[in-house]
Amino acid sequence: MRMYDIITAKKRGEELSDEQIEFVIDAYTKGEIPDYQISALMMAIYFKGMTDKETATMTMAMAKSGDTIDLSEFGTLTVDKHSTGGVGDKTTLVIAPIAASLGCKVAKMSGRGLGHTGGTVDKLESFTGYKTSMDAEEFFECVRRCGMAVIGQSGNLAPADKKLYALRDVTATVDSIPLITASVMSKKLAAGSHSIVLDVKYGSGGFMKTPEDAERLACGMVEIGKRCGRSISALITCMDIPLGLAIGNSLEVKEALAVLSGGGPEDLKTVCIALATEMVMHSLGMGAAEAEAAVREAISSGKALSKFKEWIGAQGGSADYVSDTSLFPEAKFTHEVKSPKDGYVYSMNAEEIGIASVMLGAGRVTKDDSIDHSAGIILAKKTGDYTRCGDTIAVLYTNNEKKLADAEAAILAAIRFSDKRPELPALIYKTVR
Ligand code: URA
Repeated sequence: MRMYDIITAKKRGEELSDEQIEFVIDAYTKGEIPDYQISALMMAIYFKGMTDKETATMTMAMAKSGDTIDLSEFGTLTVDKHSTGGVGDKTTLVIAPIAASLGCKVAKMSGRGLGHTGGTVDKLESFTGYKTSMDAEEFFECVRRCGMAVIGQSGNLAPADKKLYALRDVTATVDSIPLITASVMSKKLAAGSHSIVLDVKYGSGGFMKTPEDAERLACGMVEIGKRCGRSISALITCMDIPLGLAIGNSLEVKEALAVLSGGGPEDLKTVCIALATEMVMHSLGMGAAEAEAAVREAISSGKALSKFKEWIGAQGGSADYVSDTSLFPEAKFTHEVKSPKDGYVYSMNAEEIGIASVMLGAGRVTKDDSIDHSAGIILAKKTGDYTRCGDTIAVLYTNNEKKLADAEAAILAAIRFSDKRPELPALIYKTVR
């Protein structure tokens, strides 16, 4: 089989055969196809798309390209959640302990932040000593004892995706619906959970800019999950505005703890309750009303917060920070960004706010950059809020004072003010089942 012919076929918009797709994934994983030919194929797919059949074949080939995790000892209790990425998205930190406290089994591999989006593993490293990598037996034991474990992506889980994603990231081919579908679902299928809840983001901070595109992506992923025998659904949620008020690792952990303690910002709480309800419905077979009541009770009773503390301790982290958040190291420098005018915050570009937090040290520009866990932003105003000239709209945190001016400029450039009150986008646009 010749790679040249496969690229040509896709360039003409033809449907690739199972054999052609399996050949591409297998040979690329083994290092037998050069990056420039795969880049050409990814761009052809970007423009010509893939049929549902091609996408399903590609997903399965990528899922089987490395290790797969066998969670069958936990029966149908295992449940995973995946977000397509966003700014201020700390939902895993809230919903995984809620689900585990109710009897679900959450055996989760999470990513690190790259670009403007944060990653759960970076957030968890705000706890001194937290182990983001464990051998298989330790990982399973943690799930058995604590009901949950969250570690970084294992080196050999869907290695085809690892290579392809890195290439797509530098060849402007990330935001393709079939390619995102294959990327996300190959990892979720290889990670082995019986149930999967997807949080597909739309808006300025998500890969999908419109709810309609997010719905197309969600439908495709749900279809593939079902074909592979998984219990799966997807929530389409708003990422036009950062989620919650905190952006940056330990700042987000503290906000997640506030939600688990019964407080926290309303938008974050709403999305967390919806996602956790969905997890509980799949894993424990409850109806929607019963599952939501159980989720709310897990928060109000303190059960979910205790589970969080147990989990951080079980993975070697400084669990005492959970009861006393003043123990998290604080950034040396803070700066208040003031509103330049009277008016409503009309829009807030989530991606640009995410980039401002990366400037402060909360994220990485290249894979090998180190992170300042105390850096980030706490928003004081969000889209729809009225502000007077001189009111604080955000507080910046960093250990590198020189970054404050650029980050402040980036935040002010990301916000549009208006005399008119804006219509707020739907926080939860739809659920796809
Ligand atoms: N997240 C993924 O894991 N893969 C993509 O392609 C996009 C978002």
